[in-house]
Amino acid sequence: MLIVQKYGGTSVGDASRIKNVARRVVQKQREGNRMVVVVSAMGDTTDDLIRLSREITDNPSPREMDMLLSTGEQVSIALLAMAIKNLGAGVISLTGPQAGIKTDDIYSKARITDIDNTRLRAELDEGKIVVVAGFQGINEHNDITTLGRGGSDTTAVALAAALQADLCEIFTDVDGVYTTDPRVVPEARKLESITYDEMLELAHLGAAVLHPRAVECAKLYGIPLHVRSSFNDNPGTIVKEEGEMEKGLFVTGVTCNKNVAKLGIFGVPDQPGIAYMVFKMLADNNINVDMIVQSSMREGVNDISFTVAQDDLRKSLETIEEIIRVVGANGYTHDAHVAMVSVVGAGMTQNPGVAAMMFGALADENINIEMISTSDIKISCIVKNSEAEKAVKVLHKKFGLEKAGHCNCCA
Ligand code: ASP
Ligand code: MG
Repeated sequence: MLIVQKYGGTSVGDASRIKNVARRVVQKQREGNRMVVVVSAMGDTTDDLIRLSREITDNPSPREMDMLLSTGEQVSIALLAMAIKNLGAGVISLTGPQAGIKTDDIYSKARITDIDNTRLRAELDEGKIVVVAGFQGINEHNDITTLGRGGSDTTAVALAAALQADLCEIFTDVDGVYTTDPRVVPEARKLESITYDEMLELAHLGAAVLHPRAVECAKLYGIPLHVRSSFNDNPGTIVKEEGEMEKGLFVTGVTCNKNVAKLGIFGVPDQPGIAYMVFKMLADNNINVDMIVQSSMREGVNDISFTVAQDDLRKSLETIEEIIRVVGANGYTHDAHVAMVSVVGAGMTQNPGVAAMMFGALADENINIEMISTSDIKISCIVKNSEAEKAVKVLHKKFGLEKAGHCNCCA
């Protein structure tokens, strides 16, 4: 088999952990597999590099920032290759550019446009283990780019696609994907499998195990992912297209995202083109809007509320002042002390009543819902930050997620 494995920052956090990864990789090769190994920067290296750059300037050039951040992964590949060689296996480390990973030229969030796998194939054909730096590529000007925080997952999946690998394993510091954060709900259960769409929602909603773009890429190329721990041999969670999914489970997981702020604009004119202008101005300032609620009209004006990432709050408030000048409105409000609590499950489409169950469980606990949004496989509510953890606990219980194979339509 051709196997692509990815090890995250914690899994290569120090020399002994790097040696541990080397043993796992060499063992797999000795079992007769061809191995490509993608690694992240050691531990908090990327954060440390960002901090260091801030000591120099508040406004670094995006090109230099990528030049800087890509060094973290280079340290890991060199050390891992040394550790593998020590165990007597043939090995070579390659940077993203050396591995043929081409990207567009959006620094700090580049997208992979193409992978020229010639070199990778040649090294594999020589029987070597190929260790590739995650999170980086090269643009058409021959400059190094990075793929966005957590982007090593995407490197691994893209390489698996380009090499038509038989298996893509994502090694991390947890045993797999859980029904919710086990630190919040100790009864949280590891899922045996989950669909790409569910995983995408969970990843976007803040479950940090997998990078959303890696999941998109896996779905696009139909590559099953195995998310598992590098610290033990427990089976992890398989992310794949719907198949023999856990039957009857229409809610798969509960998430909580605290990086949310709520904004409202009052009394905007009720005319065609107003929503366009409001959200165009936000988009032009690179602000990602998540939920949007427009109240029904009264006396020719509307209220529009929406949520943004808390990091974008300041920029959003500046933009709203500009919006009010341009479109006219009575005023605005904001609240950073909110969280988004969501239930996710592919089975929701076939089961009416999930929303009612969710709202009922929150009502029983006297938790006020400030905003609601839904998709085919997700229902999200904005609640007070201080009530978010309680909300996660009651929802996890309400949908019976602690019980394996349990049908939660009768919970
Ligand atoms: N080292 C990069 C980061 O921390 C990429 C990764 O870990 O996947 O964001
Ligand atoms: Mg990292």
